[in-house]
Amino acid sequence: MDIKKIRNIGFAAHIDAGKTTINERILFYTGRIHKMGEVHEGQATMDWMAQEKERGITITAAATYCQWRDHHINIIDTPGHVDFTAEVKRSLRVLDGLVVIICGVGGVEPQSETIWRLADDFRVPRLIYVNKLDRIGASLDRALTEIEEKLNAQSLLLQLPVGEEADFMGVVDLIEMKALLWDKDLQGAQYSTVEIPEELIAQVNLSRERLLETVADTDDSIAELYLSEEEVPLDRLKAAIRKATIQSKLVPVLCGSALRNKGIQPLLDSVLDYLPSPLDVPPAEGINPYTNKKEKRTPSDKEPTSALVFKVMGQAGRKLVYFRVYSGILKEGQRLLNTTRNRKERLGNIFRMHANRQEKVVSMGPGEIGASTDLKWAKTGDTICDEKHPILLETIEFPQPVLSMAIEPSSRSEMDKLEECLALLEDEDPTFSYHKDEETKQMIISGMGELHLDVLSERMRRDHNIQFRTGKPQVELRETITQPVEVTGKIDRVFGEGEEARHLYAEVVLRLTPLEKGAGLQIVDLTAEKPGAAKAVEIVETIKQAIENTATSGVASGYPVINTRVEILDYAYEAGKSTEQAFSIAASMAMKQGLEEGKSVLLEPIMELEVVTPTEDIGDVMGDLSSRGARIGGV
Ligand code: GDP
Ligand code: MG
Repeated sequence: MDIKKIRNIGFAAHIDAGKTTINERILFYTGRIHKMGEVHEGQATMDWMAQEKERGITITAAATYCQWRDHHINIIDTPGHVDFTAEVKRSLRVLDGLVVIICGVGGVEPQSETIWRLADDFRVPRLIYVNKLDRIGASLDRALTEIEEKLNAQSLLLQLPVGEEADFMGVVDLIEMKALLWDKDLQGAQYSTVEIPEELIAQVNLSRERLLETVADTDDSIAELYLSEEEVPLDRLKAAIRKATIQSKLVPVLCGSALRNKGIQPLLDSVLDYLPSPLDVPPAEGINPYTNKKEKRTPSDKEPTSALVFKVMGQAGRKLVYFRVYSGILKEGQRLLNTTRNRKERLGNIFRMHANRQEKVVSMGPGEIGASTDLKWAKTGDTICDEKHPILLETIEFPQPVLSMAIEPSSRSEMDKLEECLALLEDEDPTFSYHKDEETKQMIISGMGELHLDVLSERMRRDHNIQFRTGKPQVELRETITQPVEVTGKIDRVFGEGEEARHLYAEVVLRLTPLEKGAGLQIVDLTAEKPGAAKAVEIVETIKQAIENTATSGVASGYPVINTRVEILDYAYEAGKSTEQAFSIAASMAMKQGLEEGKSVLLEPIMELEVVTPTEDIGDVMGDLSSRGARIGGV
């Protein structure tokens, strides 16, 4: 595949802006599907999960691809609700360009702002599509004002609408200076290119002037032509817009009505014309795990293979792993290194994904997006690569869960099924986790918000047919120590009697140090080589495991311990008496004691919140925030 002709793009927006409807049109016009399904009828191709159909919203990012003007477009559909921002984030990490959809009536809503900031962080070039111009009260002008004000973006209007609301018929293309009008029939598959309607000419000329002026501001050669009032050749104008878009200096704005099948083909044209190919974005960066040096991978067939896992999903009892290839060729049957987990494995099947359907291919080149069912170790954010040229690509960071809820299976026999299912969900969703509360024996699930936990519970009930009750959601708490300590855990006891009697002996010395926020739990082995202790590696492993287990429920209130460094300083053993069990007990005694003497305290989640408000409301907003216990970081 010609890399120049690949586009990896996503559609992102506030919920209900029309992403899924647009996706459906794209698949239809590009010949990927032969019948168009509507979201409100539960028939959209991309919303294939049962719940997505029922709720009519997109929950998980599903990947698909299509062909347009001999280009290959990979599309990731991303959900709009704030609880699923993790889905948006992981998509942004592997995409090269983003189409942000804004509702022509609702304008720039908060979730669009959130996504816009995330896209800023990931430096993803963008286009904007203002949708729903057929609706009463739709206004392109208002949308443009909001784009400038709320998103702080330099927009570049490429089209003007022909007709308003119910009479919306098509658009004027300000680049080609033609009007595109859609026929009522054929579900918008065809449109006619005609002269600009008389009554629009004045407005069109004004907008064209503004367009040239804006482009000239980013490009000296265009500025020269513009200032000397010469005609700007079409190809040079497009090239200048492409360059400025890829550098995120400009955001081209298009418009239309997805439901009325208008304005989708020009959007696809613009994706090819203005959004980057994998060659237009900076090379992937990573660390060579052996040398600890920074390395780069350019999107070339000749480079060693490297790919990033961006999604893991259980499907029909198998684990489906989505990845993006950054360099080299990924081949069926190839031996790969999962650098993140330090595991080697053979890559079996490779698929191109079309919603929930898989299309088998034998290899995949740089810039491509695919999936496999044969990557046992892979989790979201992992690097897989050529085992002879290891690299650890920058991973995807996800926020920690903030809300927990107890769940209780309706019968004991359901427990195993439940645990299996939870493990699957945890594999799929890096912002979801679960654990068993040792005291209450309850299963606790944790996620990003009530909707998140609600959706996952529904999936367990329906897709996995498990019956259970849920408790009230609770804010996720943590514990940490407040002062450094050094402790020794020692076991030296006889268990059992007579023949059965066993003497267990082990000692473990630990040092616990409080760490800064966000550091998590770090366990470090500082023990010296022990002459004669052939099993030193296994002993340290056992100790680490025991520390980790003990840390899952701290001494302050039984919450997981974080932001603490635990150093294993030393251990003592005696042949015959120092079994694995002995070390395990000694280590967890030491850890418990350390948490107590280290004066463990409870931590509440802190969220960073940015409020944008008119000046006159600042006082009220500040007052309200303070009354809720917020600390104001700055105004
Ligand atoms: P998503 O949440 O962004 O995926 O949005 P959907 O594609 O699910 O659309 C939300 C609702 O808006 C659905 O009922 C669509 O039929 C409707 N819709 C989408 N595009 C348009 C449009 O251009 N005009 C009108 N009037 N309705 C639209
Ligand atoms: Mg949707």
